Amino acid sequence: MKICIKAPAKINLVLDVLHKRPDGYHEVEMIMTTVDLADRLELSNIKGNKIILESSSGFVPDDSRNLAYQAALLIKERYGIEKGVHIKIDKHIPVAAGLAGGSSDAAAALKGLNQLWNLGLSHDKLAQLGSEIGSDVSFCVYGGTALATGRGEVIKRIDSPPPCWVILAKPSIGVSTADVYRKLNLDKVEHPNVNNMIKALKDKDYQGICREMGNVLEGVTLSMHPEVNRIKEKMHSLGADGVLMSGSGPTVFGLTVHESRMQRIYNGLRGFCDQVYAVRLIGERTLE
Ligand code: ATP
Repeated sequence: MKICIKAPAKINLVLDVLHKRPDGYHEVEMIMTTVDLADRLELSNIKGNKIILESSSGFVPDDSRNLAYQAALLIKERYGIEKGVHIKIDKHIPVAAGLAGGSSDAAAALKGLNQLWNLGLSHDKLAQLGSEIGSDVSFCVYGGTALATGRGEVIKRIDSPPPCWVILAKPSIGVSTADVYRKLNLDKVEHPNVNNMIKALKDKDYQGICREMGNVLEGVTLSMHPEVNRIKEKMHSLGADGVLMSGSGPTVFGLTVHESRMQRIYNGLRGFCDQVYAVRLIGERTLE
């Protein structure tokens, strides 16, 4: 038996950091939504008790450092499963980009193994397991549009944005999330207004959504990598309505509802920037 499952990327419409907690994690408030750019996982049973992972990208580890491997190991250990599995990851999401590619692969592995091994675990249980692997994994189990609080693992579903195009542009640099958090000075940031964004989403107020977008990590990454700011300026000049860096970067996304403008922004960024994608917001919950 073989299970094929998609692992979509996310963008942050809002990313706020409230304070650093005594346990070392940051208390966050994030509004995340899934986009139609996805890795694909194929999971199949193999003889023995091993986890074998194969990835189409040379940029991701194929051993226990891979988050999908960690997901399989966690399920095997927690539920005493003595079976082998082959995990094949077809990578499409850029790596270390602020799009939660690794977390989404882990979430897809949890969901896929739940099916492959007939475990009957609920999505809430899978999300709880996911939080042991990484803070963004819980959101990726549910997908859709959600408010994530705590260290990112407390998920509340909220209204999704109206349909629109998302142009993603990633310069050829990787950004370490840990590094960005280390350099963040919370006395010097302008905090986005999460409640205003939740209301704009509820009202399907596209202009309001673009206006309320904000990410406190943006200033840190921009100060280290000025090319990220150049991409933001270019997106604005090409006519994107809302432009923001996702996660800790370096990917910048821009929104538009017009297909012709999407084409113009996409074409204008090709050649200017390493990787460019034009995709749809998935928005609605994507439970499989
Ligand atoms: P986030 O938005 O959650 O901060 P990200 O998009 O910035 O994540 P990832 O693409 O998840 O970053 O990769 C971060 C690091 O995780 C990479 O350096 C990579 O070596 C490691 N990694 C482990 N497993 C995977 C995976 N399945 N796919 C991609 N990267 C992985």
